[in-house]
Amino acid sequence: MLCPKCHGRTWIADSRPVRKSNSTMRRRRCKGCMYRFTTYERVSVGVSHGNCTYQGAASHVRRALTSLESLAREAGEMES
Ligand SMILES: [Zn+2]
Repeated sequence: MLCPKCHGRTWIADSRPVRKSNSTMRRRRCKGCMYRFTTYERVSVGVSHGNCTYQGAASHVRRALTSLESLAREAGEMES
């Protein structure tokens, strides 16, 4: 799992099962910027909707970050 902020490597600081939703919660921390975030790992067998939604959200966030980065780069180029 890469950091949502800087796309750096992350490590798992804590991991615990969530019985209610049969999933695993992981607290992760970025090695690069020390950003902390939480992920939920869920069994996808028989869960056709939940996993798709998560995947869609993840790629949406990635696209948003990429466009933000290119905007920031453009802004930087204009200043110099
Ligand atoms: Zn980071």
